[in-house]
Amino acid sequence: MSANEGYILTCRASAQALGGLEESLSEAGYTVRGVEKGAEVVSHVTGQEPDLVVIDDSVSDAEPLEIIKELRHRPGSRYIPLVLISSESPGETAAKAIQAGASDYIRKPFDLDEALARIHAHVARGRLIREAKREADTRGIVLDVVRDVTASLSSTEIFHILVRRVSRVFQIRRCSMILVNESGDRGTVVAAHDDPSINALSIDLGRYPEIRQATETGAPVLVKNLKGSALFEQIRPLWETEKIAVDVQSIVAVPFSFDKGRSGVFFLRSSPDEPSLDEAAVKLASDIVQGAVRALNTAATFENVLSHQEQLELMAKTDELTGCLSRRFLMEKLENELERAARYERLLGLVMFDIDDFKSLNDTHGHTTGDAALRAVGEVLRRSLRTADFVGRYGGDEFVLVLPETSAAGTHRLAERIRNGISRRLWELRGGKMRLTISGGVAGFPEVGIVTPEDLIDRADQALYEAKAAGRNKVFRRRSDGRTVTAESLPDTESDATDMEIDR
Ligand code: GH3
Ligand code: MG
Repeated sequence: MSANEGYILTCRASAQALGGLEESLSEAGYTVRGVEKGAEVVSHVTGQEPDLVVIDDSVSDAEPLEIIKELRHRPGSRYIPLVLISSESPGETAAKAIQAGASDYIRKPFDLDEALARIHAHVARGRLIREAKREADTRGIVLDVVRDVTASLSSTEIFHILVRRVSRVFQIRRCSMILVNESGDRGTVVAAHDDPSINALSIDLGRYPEIRQATETGAPVLVKNLKGSALFEQIRPLWETEKIAVDVQSIVAVPFSFDKGRSGVFFLRSSPDEPSLDEAAVKLASDIVQGAVRALNTAATFENVLSHQEQLELMAKTDELTGCLSRRFLMEKLENELERAARYERLLGLVMFDIDDFKSLNDTHGHTTGDAALRAVGEVLRRSLRTADFVGRYGGDEFVLVLPETSAAGTHRLAERIRNGISRRLWELRGGKMRLTISGGVAGFPEVGIVTPEDLIDRADQALYEAKAAGRNKVFRRRSDGRTVTAESLPDTESDATDMEIDR
């Protein structure tokens, strides 16, 4: 096919129905494929991603408007320009078509030149839109992967996360992390997606000219087709004498350095049966590596300074006494959730709880009973959560609950219910039967002035302070206008059943 303007799919009863449009499109350099049934459009679009779809009202098996709606609904065809051709007078039909998602409406009989000009314009615009969408998706992927690795403080774990996530993004089996020695002749595979058991496998870089080139030049190397690549000229005879069947088609090698002077290469290879790697893959892999290097530097500093035991303790994800998340892990997760909420414009609720008069419980019954109380409260909190929620021990007798996708009012209601439940129970702890109460402060996102996890915590803490000052065993919420909402001023669950927020 010599056509290079793009690929246009037409759907019409027969080619004649479009009065020469298909021929003109072909002459203008498009590849045109026609289908006769509306039902075939969707499967063609899914497999081949045309640059534009023309739907003519001569098709008899489906309503053109329904085809348009269906294509607009599917993620794979959402951004493809759709042109409806109809013999009906525009007016209402055109309005309905545009509403259903058509990019344009052309009435028969039409002027060929004008129709061509419109199609050209829609193809060009569609490309821009899809490109922008791809770029946005790429940014999202980079952000997600980098966020994943940032939560880790071990370089080994970071390498493993990177190869796993990136091979999933590119749908390739072979993705590995190779550290290169100072003279650049030997490498150590520190993580390989196709073989997770690999741990420090030493390799001779003489056999990997692409890795050597990446390290020497400091720039990413892209090999689109291994067969014709001059880079492998010297090594090819060796493959032959050693009878090595190389089933690699394309390669990306992205060099990086971290921890003041250590260097490595992020190494991606696709087989002929996998999607081939291109310039976009180089860009994406480079962006991810760049983001990961900061996490690697932090991990390296951490690994250099602390003993193994200290590292294990710091990395612990749960608090031993209460089974809730450790403060460090809680804050990490909170940061991720807040970032996600900001990015996708979602709600996020947070409660800070503090046990009332805990010092005197310790003083009266001893620390062991105090510990038992902390354990019991931790358990109640953990049990009150949905899967997406989490709770951590923030400090001594303070706990923080994080509720993704929940409004401040919804969070307040849940917190109030927990507080009430705890205060009504007669607790049997080591020191005998006793009452326990907790106070809570609620904060929600989005809210003016709340940007960082610390902002959210601070706001909840202020409300908690007021709840304590107001006599304890209460949950308050502080709003951005400085007003405090008490549980009494909360709408009850009955009356706001129509509320969009998650009901609890
Ligand atoms: P308030 O109602 O104002 O919160 O009074 P409070 O007595 O609870 O005061 P505060 O929250 O400031 O005190 C927390 C106490 O919790 C101080 C500390 O002795 C005790 N604590 C902190 N960690 C532990 C622990 O792991 N076990 C035990 N048993 N007590 C702890
Ligand atoms: Mg307390």
